Amino acid sequence: MSYYRGICNFCGTGCGHLLRVEDNRVRGVYPLPGHPLSRGRLCVRGWHIHELLQTEDRIITCRIKEKNSWKEVKLEEAIGYLAEKLSKYSGWEVGFLGSPRSSNEDNYLFGKFARAVMKSNLLSLTSDAGQEESTLVLLEGTGWPAALGSLERLRQADYILVVGGDLTKQNPIVASEIHYAARAGARLVTISPRETQMARLSRLHLRPRLGTTRLLLQALSRMLLDEGLIEEDYLRNHTKNHGDFLAAIAAVEPEQIEVATGIELRVLREEARRLSEARSAYAFYPTGIQSLDRNTIAAIFNLFLLAGKVGKPGCGINPVTGISNLLGSYDMGLSPLLLPGYSPLSDEASLQRLEKLWGCRLNMEPGKSVSESLAQNTRMQALLVVDHDEEIIRNLKKIENLELVVYFGAYENPFARLADVVFPLTTYAEADGTYTNSERRVQLNEKKVEPSGEAQPLWQIMTLLAGAMGHRWNYSSAAEVMAEISQVVPQYSGITYDKLRIRPGLKWPCDQDHPEGTDCLLIDELSRPLKFVLESEPAQTREVLRAEEGYPFKLVVGRSNYFWHQNSIMKKTFIPRREYNALLLLYPGGFVEISSEDARKLNLREKQSVRILATNAELRLAVRISDDVCPGMLYVPYFVEEMIPEFLHRQVSDLEKNEEFYLPVRLEKVE
Ligand code: SF4
Repeated sequence: MSYYRGICNFCGTGCGHLLRVEDNRVRGVYPLPGHPLSRGRLCVRGWHIHELLQTEDRIITCRIKEKNSWKEVKLEEAIGYLAEKLSKYSGWEVGFLGSPRSSNEDNYLFGKFARAVMKSNLLSLTSDAGQEESTLVLLEGTGWPAALGSLERLRQADYILVVGGDLTKQNPIVASEIHYAARAGARLVTISPRETQMARLSRLHLRPRLGTTRLLLQALSRMLLDEGLIEEDYLRNHTKNHGDFLAAIAAVEPEQIEVATGIELRVLREEARRLSEARSAYAFYPTGIQSLDRNTIAAIFNLFLLAGKVGKPGCGINPVTGISNLLGSYDMGLSPLLLPGYSPLSDEASLQRLEKLWGCRLNMEPGKSVSESLAQNTRMQALLVVDHDEEIIRNLKKIENLELVVYFGAYENPFARLADVVFPLTTYAEADGTYTNSERRVQLNEKKVEPSGEAQPLWQIMTLLAGAMGHRWNYSSAAEVMAEISQVVPQYSGITYDKLRIRPGLKWPCDQDHPEGTDCLLIDELSRPLKFVLESEPAQTREVLRAEEGYPFKLVVGRSNYFWHQNSIMKKTFIPRREYNALLLLYPGGFVEISSEDARKLNLREKQSVRILATNAELRLAVRISDDVCPGMLYVPYFVEEMIPEFLHRQVSDLEKNEEFYLPVRLEKVE
């Protein structure tokens, strides 16, 4: 029996764990005491990750579909077959859907294969709602596209603002750190239309009407301005365009704020004062299914910048990624807009630099996400997909009509069943790889067991495939891939496997000037002034109060501890499965949460069957009465396939856009 250090691969917290290995199988998991963020803790998902690794539901051979039946083939044959098929396509004809669970090395070579071999910029990730928006806002405002503050210093904070979602469910250990800080004296304020667990732990829960979170944030900025709580020197010395922002904020009408948000101005005035006086202040928001839209993220950033809480030690704005390597996947350039290292695809100098490093010409045409391509019926005819099963639920018919679908994955799922060619991937315990958590910490997770069957890491399959298509790639280990990443991605230029082996990760930027990584953004180290991110549209005030005719309820969807990615992962682990089944025992057909006030008005009982009607579809669910939702709002947990039939699937891309997005519906009793 042996114990090996590793990193939990469920969410973007990246907790440290020890895996117990016997007979080449992972038999148990334990928290790693010395990890700088998780500090000897795991959440319920993390405690059961070994069950996922033991599942029999693995893909362990390559297979090719011929006349609707599978033929198992050797890896070389599958590579040769696919290389020949792919040689018919290029550019807009072939799409790439990467996985935010894959390692940096896997994602880097997947993206390189798309851009350098297939000349395609149809390259995107699954489950990355809000990540792109957050990246672009922080890039514009600071030049840094990710967490600005240090989680290691969080316990000394005296003001913490959490906006949207419920981090206690999405990233329980980050939420636990926030809770520690609150118990140590930080004033914890949550802004969320729902009564979340995070809201219950907070000193103050600001519960704006649905659709008015951004207005509430702007109102806080306006209060800073009105109360003279702005640090003039900070603005003058470290920011540009503050005049434009102050003019925009002055246009926010205070008398409308109370009516629109439902929150009294005197409360906002008091909060603005407390934020301004805080020595150390942090803002958190999730990226993922309950993510925020660009304008709301910009409103958080602008509020903190106006309060002088950006670029100082003990201050920061931290987006919290829902999936293990979502941030790393963006670092590696799995985006239709951004190259590895966050240079825009439209920047000619960056593209030329990459062409020189990769030794080939690249396509400069603006990219598109795979979802957009499917929605817009572009010329895409072939699709390569990694470890993923969501897009298929939204776009099954369109994916079925593609000429070629290739799936790379470790576990069986609907995509693997539909694909024409399937490649078995190693799990994260079967291969070396690095993962970058929400706090920019790049962590090494080394191989602990031999791969099952013919499973290979994705980077290795991509290397073989590129070779079969005439591109000589010479990578013989994940460490060698990282050596190239460190040349291509400036933020990783000081990262090596040797360094990572003896450290609990390195927070990028890790470069010549910061060989031990960088804890947080410091204003004095920036080469450019900070910039207010001007919001693209004015905040709504009157419009949000307008009820949609005939559809008086606002339906939102959300995340839960045990419901995670259509549950094809979570159903494989015992405790989450038990909890999931227990909930379905109570609500076998799924549930919708409704406030006690609305339930009383409509004379609804607990578990009563109701129909939810949108403009073009309906859904039948049981009532769950809960004052976690406010009157006028309905809530259905996302990621419960049984609860989300056709009509939510059809509209899920809208619902995913941000937490403020809702679907107007009406509710009828089923007699
Ligand atoms: S918080 Fe995330 S990374 Fe940590 S144990 Fe839970 S699922 Fe794993």
